[in-house]
Amino acid sequence: MAYERILRGREGEVLFLLGNEAFARGALEGGVSVAATYPGTPSSEIGEVLFELAEAAGMYFEYSTNEKVAVEVAYAAATSGLRSLAFMKHVGLNVAMDSFISAVLMGVEGGMAVISADDPSAHSSQNEQDNRTYSLLTGVPMLEPSDPQEAKDMLVDALRMSEEHGVPFLIRSVTRVSHMRAPVRLGPLAEIRPPGSGEFRGGPGSHVPVPPRNLKWHEELLAKLSSLVPVSERSGWNRVEGSGDLGIVTSGAAYNYVHDVVSEQGIEAEILKLGMTNPLPRSLIASFLDRHDVVYVFEEVDPFLERGIREIAQMEGIDVEIRGKLSGHVPWVRETDMDVVTRSLGLELPGVPEVRVEIPRRPPVFCPGCPHRGTFWALRKAILSLRGKVKVPAVTTDIGCYTLGFNPPFGLGDVLLSMGASLGLAGGFEVASGGKPVALIGDSTFFHAGIPALINLASNDHDALVVILDNGTTAMTGHQPHPGQSATGRSISIEEVVRSITGNVRVVDPYDLEQTTEAFKEALQEPGLSVVVSRRACSLMEDALKRRRGEPIEHYRVIADRCTACGICYRFFSCPAIYAGEDGKARIDPFLCDGCGVCAQVCPFDAIVKGGD
Ligand code: SF4
Ligand code: SF4
Repeated sequence: MAYERILRGREGEVLFLLGNEAFARGALEGGVSVAATYPGTPSSEIGEVLFELAEAAGMYFEYSTNEKVAVEVAYAAATSGLRSLAFMKHVGLNVAMDSFISAVLMGVEGGMAVISADDPSAHSSQNEQDNRTYSLLTGVPMLEPSDPQEAKDMLVDALRMSEEHGVPFLIRSVTRVSHMRAPVRLGPLAEIRPPGSGEFRGGPGSHVPVPPRNLKWHEELLAKLSSLVPVSERSGWNRVEGSGDLGIVTSGAAYNYVHDVVSEQGIEAEILKLGMTNPLPRSLIASFLDRHDVVYVFEEVDPFLERGIREIAQMEGIDVEIRGKLSGHVPWVRETDMDVVTRSLGLELPGVPEVRVEIPRRPPVFCPGCPHRGTFWALRKAILSLRGKVKVPAVTTDIGCYTLGFNPPFGLGDVLLSMGASLGLAGGFEVASGGKPVALIGDSTFFHAGIPALINLASNDHDALVVILDNGTTAMTGHQPHPGQSATGRSISIEEVVRSITGNVRVVDPYDLEQTTEAFKEALQEPGLSVVVSRRACSLMEDALKRRRGEPIEHYRVIADRCTACGICYRFFSCPAIYAGEDGKARIDPFLCDGCGVCAQVCPFDAIVKGGD
């Protein structure tokens, strides 16, 4: 087992763990009986570890259909007295919020924590939203770790406090904490109450938020938050370090950069490191502000702390200059780093010459052998061949590897909003502009949020082509299972689901370009809702399976005498294994080629053939 050491590690032992691995160990030390997630970077590794270890640990773990379901599973467990955990990437919390807000309002019996892994700089996301704002919207208490040790320990503490105060806790991680690797001293493993041993102590109406009960719960939630203020004041997660005239307030990953700049540049500064950031330790902050004329605030993304600190200064009548994102001293957009901290403090990075290197632009492309390449090639060909006959007002796309298809050479993907949104958008474009919009959606995303939107297209009689790119896995986040390829229960057939909504469904193999192109052409020309399932397993997964089985991968090659250097294969098909030689003729890199054979179908001169040199 890849992660066995996380389960077997003894108390006091130090392991070199990724932040997300530390969260998983925290779940084991915190006695989590039920854990659920939908995979999303930068939170995915927590699920990878728990997926492997849950059974041996006596915990129930599931990959839920989406983040909302994950929170609902965890909430039901927590109202039955068990400890539970739901975790997700930041935009996943948007999906979960409808249920999470009621869960926080009504409270829990067993400890419940939700980890939101935010993505400042939007490395692998559609935005860099700051989910700390949700702690104010919902009233959920919140902790912010700065490193893997804190990630583990804060989760254990959050579960304990959640149980004590009867309210779920939010833990806000960021990419640089979830994906940072550092030594972590292990604590004792908790005794995990077996799944199935909980008991729902409520009854009819006990957890139904209707008035006037929901208003009473609102008052109770505010009282719970008030009772947590002294906890925050005393909490070891909120601490003062160093001394000096300059004051700096910081939290999360930003603390690490502040710490390094202050120590490396020998700056005399007093640092208030906040780890419990809702509710804020008001007295601790007020006395800190009182000691300084100028206080800087460094935090990831929004001026969440800065706003809270300004409010405290105003309410306590403290005369202090607060410098942060609101005052324009610290940049608001993108991650904090040492450069940001140094320049914001008005300093220069010592001895580090500015290096400017022009790096060639390399748009992200599909992997060699990726089945999406065939789907996009065929769809583009079908749309172009029907130009003037079929109006395609927009190609709406969705979240997954296939999002990359908006890049050259395919250029298919005009609008993206969120998981599952491509189908709803297609309906809107059809209403607004007429014609037959094309909606692209992956298999995991279809189960996550595409089904209600497909029902909407069918029940409102929209004219659209829905292409479900089924590669048999949640590929982009690391090949996690989904309901179509369930690891533990019954696998759900996509075409059976589609047939129950609309009878018009075709299943094609994107490695067969002629069949796939024909299917798209037919679908585009027929009236009403058409669905094409383009099915072929993710090439990375297939290659790994082949290697495990000891099966050889038969590469393709170019016969130089036949190649006319037309460039179709390397310019318009753009498999990364194919490149142009100095003579313009195509070459295939045997180390990259995975033997899919699709390029042989695009060469008009039969210059690409199977077999070695
Ligand atoms: S498509 Fe065929 S002829 Fe054209 S560059 Fe590629 S291998 Fe050569
Ligand atoms: S067979 Fe052709 S398309 Fe497939 S991986 Fe090899 S070079 Fe790329």
